[in-house]
Amino acid sequence: MVDVVCLGILVADVITRPVDELPHGAVSLMDEVSLHGGGCALNTATGLARLGLTVAVVGKVGEDTFGDFVVGLLEQRGLDTRGVLRDPAAPTSATVVLIDQEGERSFLHLSGANSVLRVEELPRADVFAGRALHVAGALVMAALDGTPTAGLLEEAQQRGVHTSLDTVYDATGRWERVEPCLPHLDLLTVSLAEAQGISGEHEPASAATWFRERGVGEVALKLGSNGCYVADAEFGGHVPAFPVRAVDGTGAGDAFAAGVIYGRLVGWPLVDAARLANAAGALATTAVGATEGLLGLDETLAFAGLGTAA
Ligand code: ADP
Repeated sequence: MVDVVCLGILVADVITRPVDELPHGAVSLMDEVSLHGGGCALNTATGLARLGLTVAVVGKVGEDTFGDFVVGLLEQRGLDTRGVLRDPAAPTSATVVLIDQEGERSFLHLSGANSVLRVEELPRADVFAGRALHVAGALVMAALDGTPTAGLLEEAQQRGVHTSLDTVYDATGRWERVEPCLPHLDLLTVSLAEAQGISGEHEPASAATWFRERGVGEVALKLGSNGCYVADAEFGGHVPAFPVRAVDGTGAGDAFAAGVIYGRLVGWPLVDAARLANAAGALATTAVGATEGLLGLDETLAFAGLGTAA
């Protein structure tokens, strides 16, 4: 049995810079064109493995070169890939990331295989193979969002598996697709903008209450450089961020999710899990790329001034 199964989106990111304007029918010379792993499931699984947990990934890529790259990267990071499906009819999801001289990023995204991952084709033994099931990238998995995801979470809870879910900002505004999942979540990690979209509440505390009233056990609301707001039955409050020189916010939310899941699986109070999550999120911002800034458990605890692991 692995510690955590991360079910969700897998993406190949092609990063190029500097792009201040498009050459429109001509050629611009770049300083960098590089290929990276991306997507919440890949990023959070990587973060959990760095913290020392065993992790399996469930998701879908195409039968193409980007798919080979993503699966190869997961294997290289020691993650179990038996639950990663290959679809001959859908391309691997990919994002072209254009970075300008100021570091501002523009994204050209293909949802590809992530959007056609269906509940019927999921290898159930792999989905429920962990002590915890984390759904990473809800709201951008068109075929799985809503009741199919809710059904998986419900079954996981019935089997005694800890359930958590992390959302992605839904540009189409169809926030209601999260609602069927809420009664089956032990933990919801969500950014403030997403929480506002889903709940209609403006303040972190009222959004957290809204989620808890709909059945979520614990809520961890991500507030960027302001840290997070967490709430469970015993505690509700703001947990401050760790000041860092942030160079790239990509993957901070996914690292945060890894931190809070780690803390809860080892039985820490939510507020301590939130401190570790804030540390992991802050570290993620200190290097270009989603996971390059992440550290192991002892280094992350030392960075956070939290002492060594129990
Ligand atoms: P998302 O990427 O999902 O929008 P955030 O940007 O809120 O998530 O980042 C997730 C977490 O990472 C935050 O809750 C915070 O703990 C940490 N974090 C993000 N940006 C910074 C920053 N500039 N300084 C310190 N911590 C940060």
